[in-house]
Parts: sequence; C-alpha cells; structure tokens
Amino acid sequence: MRRVSILGATGSIGQNTIDLIARTPDEFDVVALTGGHNIKQLASDACRLNADVAVTAHADRLDDLRDALQGSGIAVAAGSAALIEAASRPADWVMSAIVGAAGLAPGIAALEQGATLALANKESLVCAGALVLETARKSGARLLPVDSEHSAVFQALIGENIDAVERIIITASGGAFRDWPLADLKKATLAEASSHPNWAMGQRITIDSASMFNKALELIETKEYFGISPEQIETIVHPESLIHALVGFRDGALMAHVGPPDMRHAIGFALNWPERQTLPVERLDLARIGQLTFRAPDDARYPALRLARDVMRRGGLSGAVFNGAKERALDAFIDRRIGFLDMADVVQEVLTRFEAQAGLIDAAMTLETVMQTDHLARTMADTVMAQRAG
Ligand code: NAD
Ligand code: MG
Repeated sequence: MRRVSILGATGSIGQNTIDLIARTPDEFDVVALTGGHNIKQLASDACRLNADVAVTAHADRLDDLRDALQGSGIAVAAGSAALIEAASRPADWVMSAIVGAAGLAPGIAALEQGATLALANKESLVCAGALVLETARKSGARLLPVDSEHSAVFQALIGENIDAVERIIITASGGAFRDWPLADLKKATLAEASSHPNWAMGQRITIDSASMFNKALELIETKEYFGISPEQIETIVHPESLIHALVGFRDGALMAHVGPPDMRHAIGFALNWPERQTLPVERLDLARIGQLTFRAPDDARYPALRLARDVMRRGGLSGAVFNGAKERALDAFIDRRIGFLDMADVVQEVLTRFEAQAGLIDAAMTLETVMQTDHLARTMADTVMAQRAG
C-alpha cells in the first residue's frame, strides 16, 4: 500500500487525482486531503477514500468540517498551520495542487519529510525554484512535474543527457482570445476569459491561459525545473493542444510529446513513475485529427510573455514579485475592478517599483523572504491599482 496525500484535493487537479486513486483503492492508503470552502466535497472524498485527516484552509470553516465528518473517525483541522501539519504527515507520494503561492509552504513541508512531490502547483517553482530544488536535494525527496508541458518535457528527456538539449519548446493553446481582434481585448469580460477552448481547469488558471500569464509562469517553471537558460526556452501557439512540449537536441532531432488534453495523463504518469500503467485517457486517432497547426505567439497580444523573459533574466526573488502581483491583479479582474489588459500593466508596474528599491529582489531566498516578498508584491499591486483608479 502506498501512503498518499492530496493538497488541494477539491480542485480540478485534486479531483482528477482522486479519480485515478479511487479506481484501485486497495493500492493506496490515503493520509491527508486538504481543501478550501467546498466542505461537502472534502468530507465526502475523505469518507470515500477513508483518509486519516481532512483539512480546510479556512479556520472559520472548522466547525462545518467537523459536523460533516461527525462519527466518521476522520480527524479534522483548519488553517495554514494545519495544512503544513497535514503535508508533514509521513507519506510516500504527495500531490501539490493548491492554487497560487499558498501551495509553496505545504509543498516544502512534504519534501522535507521525504515524500515524492507531484508538483501541479507551478507557483512554487516560479516563486522559489532554487529553494524547492534545494529542499528536495537535502531530504533526498523526488520532485515530479505535473504541469502537462513539464511532464511532457520530463518524458521526452528519459534516457537523454540534458547537456545534449539545445532548446525546449512548450506549447500554448492561445487561450480564449487567440482569435479575437486585438482592439477587443480590453473589453474582454470575466465570463469570456473563464472559458478555455481545450482544457477543463480551475477558473484562475483558465483566465491565466487567456492572458498567457499561465504560459509566462510555465516558461519560468521550465527554467527552474530543468535548469536551462532562458534563451533555450521557447513557446509556440498550438491551438489543438495535442503536442504538449518538444525537446530539441543538438543533432537536430525534436522529440514531441503527443497526447489528449486530459490532466489525468500527467497526474497518472507522476503517480506511477517510474512505471507506466494503463490510464483512462482517450487514445488519439491521428487520421481523424488530420492536422496539427502552429503559429508564433504575438507579443502585443500576450505582454505576459515579455514579462516572464524579464523575470527569467533577473532571477532572485523577481519570480515571487511577478507571481504575487499577478495573483492580486487576477483577484481584481475576477472582482471586476480592473480590465483584462490592465493585469499585465499592473504586474509590469510592480516589477518596476521593486527594481527601484535596492536589494529587495536580491535578498537571500528562504521561505520567509519569499512569503514576505509575495506579501509586499500584493500590497504594491493594490497601491498601483488604487493609484490607477484614482
Ligand atoms: P482549483 O482552483 O480548481 O483548485 C485549487 C485547490 O486549492 C482547491 O482544493 C482549493 O480549495 C485549494 N485552495 C485554494 N486557495 C487556497 C489557499 N489559499 N490555501 C489552501 N488551499 C487553497 O485549481 P486547479 O486548476 O486544480 O489548479 C491547481 C494547481 O495546479 C495550480 O497551481 C495550477 O496552476 C496547477 N495546474 C492546473 C492544471 C489544471 O488542469 N487544472 C494544469 C496544470 C497545472
Ligand atoms: Mg500547463
């Protein structure tokens, strides 16, 4: 029996992970499940999978969770310290699928106890790549990518030498607005940005796909995880989302990873690694698909990509600034306080203001400095947005 925990169990990645685990329940001993406000889902999954403990991120929902699990024998807890305690419980495999920088500290705790960390939470690598990798190295824990592009690159690199890699190309669907006239983008609504052409995902990453902030995070994630230089990382718009990434080698070969747009592939790969097991995903019928298309990403449409390049070059804590400002700007877009194109302007302005304050971005990277920087970036994003509104 393998002991597994799922951080962010009630979300899109969490539910897909549960879908896989629940197919062979005898193989898994579920330790901890964590969630947010969806207490009903968290409690029902905790019962179904017979978890040891269920944790909600929100301290004020503890009574609701306790009521929902009354008499089940499943322990309950709430709040950010409880999330870390849950992630620290001995387990063989932990899924990191909380959304946002909030996933960083629990993921680090799971690595510290030596669990294999299946990392869907890309923000961990964006905010604190060096710290995450160093934590894994110190404890001997394995870090496996779950983002579809990074799982694809990882798979294309099996048996290869990273020194023979010339470039890594991650594909982008282009999101909800890839075919919109540029002039219409500033009027894009929340509902329009919340629908993805190919993937069913949580709302935040879906909007980030429309703005390509998601791809921006993934460029940084690629640099951090695979340790190659920013100039070797490219992105290309591929509207069918069937090729997830390509790795180019120095002999001119390009190894492409092709598969259906279903996160259960990448999750299942990380769950079964280093084996491959049968997974319940669609088998592609290439003759029916007929053709795959590609186009260069348009920097005018997707300013987030340029910002990601700045962050990759800058290094230090600039990833934490970028992500914190982006999360706050996204909150404001979701609350309909700013427009779609304002998000990139706000992030750009926060990066500029940080750069003007000597030493902030170059402070040593620890969990504390990353979380402080994240907090400061959010506060600064609020200030920028207030000034723009006033
Ligand atoms: P989601 O919004 O569907 O779920 C997020 C989960 O995190 C929920 O369980 C929620 O309760 C929990 N959560 C939210 N805020 C929290 C907080 N402050 N503290 C603790 N828990 C909190 O998100 P998702 O789409 O499943 O994405 C999860 C992560 O995986 C993100 O980092 C995303 O970028 C990444 N990812 C997702 C997909 C996808 O297909 N959905 C693909 C690749 C990568
Ligand atoms: Mg992805």
